[in-house]
Amino acid sequence: MKAMVLEKILPVKERPLKLVDLPVPTPGSKQILVKVSACGVCHTELDEIEGRLSPLKFPIILGHEIVGRVERLGDTASKFKKGDRVGIAWINWACGKCSFCLKGEENLCDKARWTGKDVDGGYAQYTVISEDFAYPIPKRFTDLEAAPLLCAGVIGYRALRLSGMEDNQVLGLYGFGASAHIVIQIAKYKFPNCHVFVFTRPGQKEHQSLAKRLGADWVGTTGDTPPEKLNSAIDFTPVGVPVREALRVLEKGGRLVINAIRKETPIPELDYSQHLWHEKEIKSVANVTRKDAQEFLPLAAKIPIVPEVQEFKLEEANEALILLKEGKMRGAGVLRMSAYQ
Ligand SMILES: [Zn+2]
Ligand SMILES: [Zn+2]
Repeated sequence: MKAMVLEKILPVKERPLKLVDLPVPTPGSKQILVKVSACGVCHTELDEIEGRLSPLKFPIILGHEIVGRVERLGDTASKFKKGDRVGIAWINWACGKCSFCLKGEENLCDKARWTGKDVDGGYAQYTVISEDFAYPIPKRFTDLEAAPLLCAGVIGYRALRLSGMEDNQVLGLYGFGASAHIVIQIAKYKFPNCHVFVFTRPGQKEHQSLAKRLGADWVGTTGDTPPEKLNSAIDFTPVGVPVREALRVLEKGGRLVINAIRKETPIPELDYSQHLWHEKEIKSVANVTRKDAQEFLPLAAKIPIVPEVQEFKLEEANEALILLKEGKMRGAGVLRMSAYQ
């Protein structure tokens, strides 16, 4: 099979992924072999490539927003049949036995494995996964549309839930990429009387116009003071400054959720009275659980979420990642494998 592999940590500008031929993997017990049709491009891949979140092995096939069809069942696998369309997300496996797993917090399991980081992911024609960590994809979505739902969508859904947002409140979104453009659609559906304010980098005109089209009530730049204070804020950016800026414009008792696996720059020093007093809270979001995906995918079909997708070929993965790094990806980037099918 064709795969784009990462052999070592490098700056993404050096086009670190290489197109290679590899044997098609064999599904183990309770696993399924999936013929990949689409794989989303996520900011986490930049963290892996550049070493802020190092993969467990090299070479590694990145990618954890995978849509494909079941090609073969491993021994004792019985949940799906050949030809079923399935999705694979960031959570690849969890132990099921530790105190976190037993509480339903498998996203915090110490032994958990992550797709495209600890085991090979979806920048390839085939991948294998435990049948317990694959999800049916609602019919409404094409393969390309479904891919970004599996990380950007699922983790956005989790972040919105952790924000404690209620109807009639004000939500601030810092950064407007793959995840935020889905979260605004969930927020507008679940909280029809809410106001959503979007903050982008300076000059991100395309992101700002997409935000307006998706119903943002106000659009500005990080550092701007919006017309109302925020009851909840979600920071999707890879840098530190928006944390301080969101806390500055947060309402008393408000909560900031940081939806990032790593930050590329430090969070600036906070002033206690300005940024934290009055019971303001900060919470991070880490990974996802299977329950997040199982709840979100049917909800996404019901809303329905319309993902904005920019399509690339498998061998264009480096170019897609560079666009993402430069903040120039409109909506979500997705690799399509069809050239090889
Ligand atoms: Zn991701
Ligand atoms: Zn566990």
